[in-house]
Amino acid sequence: MSAVIYPTTNLAATEQLTFDRGEGVYVYDRDGKQYLEGLAGLWCTGLGYGNRELIDTISEQLGKLSYSHTFGGKTHQPVIDLGNKLAEMVPVKDAMVFFGNSGSDANDSHIKMLRYYFNAIGKPEKRKIITRERAYHGVTVAAGSLTSLPANLAHFDAPLDALGILRTDHPHYYRGAQGDETEAQFVARICNNLEQLILAEGPQTIAAFIAEPITGASGVIVPPAGYYEKVQAILDKYDILFWADEVITGFGRTGELFGCDTMNIQQPAMMSFAKQLSSAYYPISAAVIRGDMYEPMVAASEEVGVFGHGFTYSGHPVACAAALKTLEIYQRDGLYQNAADQGKYLQSRLAEFMDFEQVGEVRGKGLLGAIELVEDRTSRAPDIALAKKVTQAAQDNGLIVRNVAGNALAVCPPLIINRAQVDEMVEKLKTAIEQSIGSAS
Ligand code: PMP
Repeated sequence: MSAVIYPTTNLAATEQLTFDRGEGVYVYDRDGKQYLEGLAGLWCTGLGYGNRELIDTISEQLGKLSYSHTFGGKTHQPVIDLGNKLAEMVPVKDAMVFFGNSGSDANDSHIKMLRYYFNAIGKPEKRKIITRERAYHGVTVAAGSLTSLPANLAHFDAPLDALGILRTDHPHYYRGAQGDETEAQFVARICNNLEQLILAEGPQTIAAFIAEPITGASGVIVPPAGYYEKVQAILDKYDILFWADEVITGFGRTGELFGCDTMNIQQPAMMSFAKQLSSAYYPISAAVIRGDMYEPMVAASEEVGVFGHGFTYSGHPVACAAALKTLEIYQRDGLYQNAADQGKYLQSRLAEFMDFEQVGEVRGKGLLGAIELVEDRTSRAPDIALAKKVTQAAQDNGLIVRNVAGNALAVCPPLIINRAQVDEMVEKLKTAIEQSIGSAS
């Protein structure tokens, strides 16, 4: 056993798989065994592994200026270029961008910017944030309080009460519908619950509503049609900001540039990015806010003398150079289109998994999908043991997928994946299920 405290790991378990290198959509363990990376690492390696152009860009930037902070008026070209580039790309009006190192810290920065903004405009009571059941927004003390998954809260005394986090329904029709409720009735009910929550708490006390357009860690929940339109109408009515956490869904993942595009979310006030922003070649995150939120923050910082929030590595030049090159390659090499094309194909092939009696639901958009395993289709009882078995069998067969939300298998391959590799992924997963069902009986 090594001296490493492993993240998001059963600490009683032993080290399982030691990776050594990667190339394209494949990674290799130290014995040289090949695996198709069906989850793009942790939903992040958009360009796959060993992209020479990106490696060269990173090396050049390391050689030129390996570090510069961005505090107190110091800056450098890569951070300026990346800020401007993101501001052009996002559907946020007059966007301004704060850089950090991880999805969690982007969400923490957002919480702090919300407070700064509402204090600056003389509404200090507007500070609560609505999150949803089954949400995943990171694990730092603040972002971890927005997360709703039991394992991320248990034993941590989370959520932190002082943050004023409110929880509303998750939009998973398959698991959340009551009786023979239709999708439209389900949406109407949970949106009414949202409105009642807002009224009970007082709209003047609620700053924002955070959502992953399509969730990741909670099992790739794709809300029913009309959900976000209704949510946005309610938020607009009560002057509550929409905050899109696009840490997984950003940059082509859902078959369009942003999850907001795929899910018809119009002009969010805030967006969070990390992961595919640099294809995980270098850690970087971006917390994007609307220009009209930034303006009062300027005046408030002048009063204090400084906007007192920033990380040593905010706008790290190497991370910014990596992100700029990543975005350039996505665009230049048609990878958003590839994600749309291969994503469509992947979804059609995932639908085939409904042939297994043990599959209760298949869902996803673009190159993001999940298969939910159940003991039987009538009871819909989650088959967690089978999901674990399939994940292991897939790994033994040379495919990495992730077992999320207990009984779901998530797939999220690099955006560079081709059709033959989608087939390979699907076939290996089918084999893993067949083997696991066989061994279960
Ligand atoms: N938000 C979402 C939607 C995520 O999926 C994640 C990570 N899986 C995070 C935030 C946190 O990102 P990080 O692990 O980089 O802190």
